[in-house]
Amino acid sequence: GHPRTLAEPLAPRDVFIAVKTTKKFHRARLDLLLETWISRHKEMTFIFTDGEDEALARHTGNVVITNCSAAHSRQALSCKMAVEYDRFIESGRKWFCHVDDDNYVNMRALLRLLASYPHTRDVYIGKPSLDRPIQATERVSENKVRPVHFWFATGGAGFCISRGLALKMSPWASGGHFMSTAERIRLPDDCTIGYIVEALLGVPLIRSGLFHSHLENLQQVPTSELHKQVTLSYGMFENKRNAVHMKGPFSVEADPSRTCDAHSAAPSPLPALCLPLGS
Ligand code: UDP
Ligand code: MN
Repeated sequence: GHPRTLAEPLAPRDVFIAVKTTKKFHRARLDLLLETWISRHKEMTFIFTDGEDEALARHTGNVVITNCSAAHSRQALSCKMAVEYDRFIESGRKWFCHVDDDNYVNMRALLRLLASYPHTRDVYIGKPSLDRPIQATERVSENKVRPVHFWFATGGAGFCISRGLALKMSPWASGGHFMSTAERIRLPDDCTIGYIVEALLGVPLIRSGLFHSHLENLQQVPTSELHKQVTLSYGMFENKRNAVHMKGPFSVEADPSRTCDAHSAAPSPLPALCLPLGS
């Protein structure tokens, strides 16, 4: 392809990556991330969770206990997104990215992607979760609703927002506003982001095929293109185990997520920090 023009070189301190997790996944999911991509990028990465954890605190000082409920409810998840947004604004950084705790972030690809856009412009980038805009109903007053449709980036693949755009989102996203905006359309947190950006601010989502959730068949990401991907994921899809196809030092039994192999094959190439089982 064409070489991208670099709008601005990015330093690690320019990017704020929010990882959403919950206490019951600290050992089951977060430890794997701490052993791989997060370990090399601690100053960029902030963990948003709902319970104290000494083992986690020993790894990184960037843990935010949200005081949101630990339930998987729409309200609890919107509450976490609201805290992520507020912390990003406070941080003064140029880029906000949100990922789930079952995402692998390829930091070099992420920085390259973000550096190709000015952070002062309106940038909302990620993978649309549907092949058409979502049709929703927007509550405009006490007893009046109207249809609204917009694209949104699926939270499970990760997405990023420039500071310029994030500041414009403030009337609907800051403080307690995010929760009330989410209630206006009664949709999950990632849809609410799309609603604010596309429907309320009129800024179109930039679609990227470099973000991946486990709700797509990850075996279809070509092996030769894996190092270019910004995010990967693993988990279940149509009741089957879903992960990228990748050869590396770790067997599928030792690392069913392929996260350790993704890390050992990462562009730099970084040594994988995961230990194969039995070693
Ligand atoms: N999650 C959470 N609270 C919960 C359950 C899940 O914050 O009660 C987070 C979880 O840590 C992950 C995201 O929500 O970052 C998505 O959860 P999961 O992968 O289990 O579900 P999916 O939507 O991908 O099926
Ligand atoms: Mn998931």
